[in-house]
Amino acid sequence: MTTLEQKRHFDRIIERIEKARLRVNNHHIVKIVAASKYVDAEAIRSLYAIGQRAFGENKIQDLVAKSETLENLPIEWHFIGTLQKNKINQLLSIRPHLLHSIDSLELAHAVNERLERENMSLKALVQINSAYEASKSGFYPEEASDKYTQIIEECPRLQLQGVMSIGAHVEDHDIIQKSFETTRRIFDTLPQASICSMGMSSDFELAIECGSNMVRLGSILFPK
Ligand SMILES: *Cc1c(COP(=O)(O)O)cnc(C)c1O
Repeated sequence: MTTLEQKRHFDRIIERIEKARLRVNNHHIVKIVAASKYVDAEAIRSLYAIGQRAFGENKIQDLVAKSETLENLPIEWHFIGTLQKNKINQLLSIRPHLLHSIDSLELAHAVNERLERENMSLKALVQINSAYEASKSGFYPEEASDKYTQIIEECPRLQLQGVMSIGAHVEDHDIIQKSFETTRRIFDTLPQASICSMGMSSDFELAIECGSNMVRLGSILFPK
């Protein structure tokens, strides 16, 4: 795509987000995190050039490599994948903007411990498995609220900002909607939570209508 085509393509996606957010209300602002796992650093650079600032990766080695290649750009890096404990140091070394995927107490404690050692803090979200899918990580809805509070109390270096969910992996619109609504309901009860990260290329409008204020868009942003 030429730069102009890319701009037009991006504008059409922004328009769809705009329409969805206005169906919630005028004050509902939605942030885009470009999930860049399918593309190389040059594709990230060209999306940056037309205004995108937040990018998310789901593999630590890709996050580290791309952020190093693009270190001259003030990109806001997000980690959106499952984090293994032996990769925590690598994650912290690039000083990410937001970790979307605290999916166990054990991980929360391990990250907190490493942060303490480095005298750092890190913004993070608690992942909720609201679709009850065995293939997904995250806390089940019944326990999410208690665990969230427990992490706030026990892991002071983790600055919890809210929640993240991946919509149900099914075709049925009602089931996907239900999974988003489950996360949204939990989000509404949490103390000082401001980020509800849900919605991907196939379901971002529905996610926004269910209260998402952060969408993670991959394939739709980087068409082949
Ligand atoms: C890849 C990925 C996305 C984006 O997926 P698309 O369907 O390509 O938009 C969002 N969230 C997570 C956690 C991902 O790994």
